[in-house]
Parts: sequence; C-alpha cells; structure tokens
Amino acid sequence: MPDKITKTDAEWKRSLTPEQFHVLREKGTERAFTGAYHDNHEEGVYRCAGCGQPLFSSENKFDSGTGWPSYWQPIAATNVETEVDKGFFMTRTEVHCSRCGGHLGHVFEDGPKPSGLRYCINSAALKFEAEQEGPSAEKASAPAASPEK
Ligand code: FE
Repeated sequence: MPDKITKTDAEWKRSLTPEQFHVLREKGTERAFTGAYHDNHEEGVYRCAGCGQPLFSSENKFDSGTGWPSYWQPIAATNVETEVDKGFFMTRTEVHCSRCGGHLGHVFEDGPKPSGLRYCINSAALKFEAEQEGPSAEKASAPAASPEK
C-alpha cells in the first residue's frame, strides 16, 4: 500500500491553486468545457494534482462530450477509491485519490465497453504528463552500461 498523505487545509492551500483546492479538498466541480484536459488527445499519464499519484492513462480516455475528461477505467484499481455521494438530490458515486483523499469527480455506469464505466473527472484535479518520445527516448536517458569486468 502506498503511503497516505495527510495535510491540513492550510498546508494544501500552500501547494495548490485556488481552483485545485476547491475541487480536490472541497469537492468542487469545474464548469464543463472550461478545464485543461477534456479535449486533450495526447498520450500520457494523468496524475493527481494533489499528490502526484498516477490515476488515469490516455489509453483509457474517451470523448464523452460532457466537457470533462472521461475515462473508462483508472490506471490501477487501487489508485482510486469511491464513496456514495448523496447531494444535490441525487445519489452518485464520488471518486477520490487513494493516496491523498483528493476529490476527483464521479463515476457513472453509462460508459463504453469493456467496463461500461465513465469516470467523469475534473481537469483541475489532474496533472497531465506527456509520454516520452517512444521507447528510444527512455533508453537514451538511462545511464550508460558500465564496462565489463
Ligand atoms: Fe492524490
């Protein structure tokens, strides 16, 4: 299990923008089509804007038309947790980061196959990290092999 992160609101405020704080720590929702990632089609990993834990992959992202970045599964089942959210006169399933507890969005059961799930996530809760330029880039950054003895 990864180490959990616990901070006070004052500590979170120092490391987050006001919008990130509102979404992650106050369970806010950004307005549709206003976030950075609903129309992002680059390949890479979406990390938690609060703690950096990898949450979603571009491989599981789809165009939901909702104006929020949408995924049919998380990058790893243990990296997100869900909770029943009874607010605004409806029952929804809230999604949060398993490491820092930051609110991400909601999950609905009207997503595409194979999962049938739609993780509807606030861009403000995410930090996108574009993939390296193919496998050769990774090799190039690896330390040179040590000479044989
Ligand atoms: Fe987190």
